[in-house]
Amino acid sequence: MKFLEVENLTTRYQTSKGQIHALDDVNFSLEKGESIGIAGESACGKSTLGLSMIRMIQGGKIVSGKINLDGESVLDLTESDFNQNYRWKKIAMVFQGAMNSLDPVYTIKQQFVEILKQHKYEGDSDKLILKAINSVNLDESVLKKYPHELSGGMKQRIIIAMALLLKPKFVIADEPTTALDVLIQAQIVNLLKKLKKDGMSIMLITHDLAILSEIADKIGIMYGGKMIEFGNSNAIYKNPKHPYTQGLLESIPTLHGGKPKFIKGNPPDLLSPKEGCKFIDRCPEAMEKCKKDPPRFKTDSGYVMCWLYE
Ligand code: SF4
Repeated sequence: MKFLEVENLTTRYQTSKGQIHALDDVNFSLEKGESIGIAGESACGKSTLGLSMIRMIQGGKIVSGKINLDGESVLDLTESDFNQNYRWKKIAMVFQGAMNSLDPVYTIKQQFVEILKQHKYEGDSDKLILKAINSVNLDESVLKKYPHELSGGMKQRIIIAMALLLKPKFVIADEPTTALDVLIQAQIVNLLKKLKKDGMSIMLITHDLAILSEIADKIGIMYGGKMIEFGNSNAIYKNPKHPYTQGLLESIPTLHGGKPKFIKGNPPDLLSPKEGCKFIDRCPEAMEKCKKDPPRFKTDSGYVMCWLYE
């Protein structure tokens, strides 16, 4: 059995205008110790995938699918079992923009202690907090400080340390480098690489494909709520198959390359998605049969959802 298996995961949000098809039939798997990068443009379902995996969908619900993590069926656990024994202990998430959620009136240590209280931790709290702080390359002097006394990079590392506090097996990091300058981004990327080397499985959600190439063993490309390509990161970088993945990679600016290309058009409407391939209106290779939803066609290391590979 694989370490992580996600099958046919489908999540909808209910709005006054109708249902948003945020995540549609998503499939992927990981071996123990592997990490995955999830990429795609805004509103493609990346964050909803992370939130579904940690069962924190607000204003919506998971309508079907399976998540098996380390031999356990995550979606079959009761809410109290999941809260007490699973969330943060086996699976944790670094939320998008979370460094701004540190409480300004409490010291960093008080905020760590609060987490342990909530989880009824009975061991040596000081030792555990220090270990978590050290694991993100900070020393104990930060524990006496208030958030405003720390730089953006330090705050982000504190948030990552909080996610690691109860030693989860799998950590989801949603855009952990967004809004940080390039030097701090490099620090966070190095930190994630170190955690991975220490055996942590990471799911890194980002729109920055350059960062994914440094960390991910596998890559999942999302478009219109679907994972339209999945496979080994080397294979996807060297030989992207889906026209959207190709466009995404061609849009990365390079130092000595020519002008980056852009994908014309807009993301699909997820409120009333059309039948067929969601990329059809923007795809330079669209054909008549693309009006039918493409199934998953096998590639050497994963799959691609595009009729070109039938
Ligand atoms: Fe383009 Fe058709 Fe492939 Fe969709 S299925 S990406 S429209 S070729």
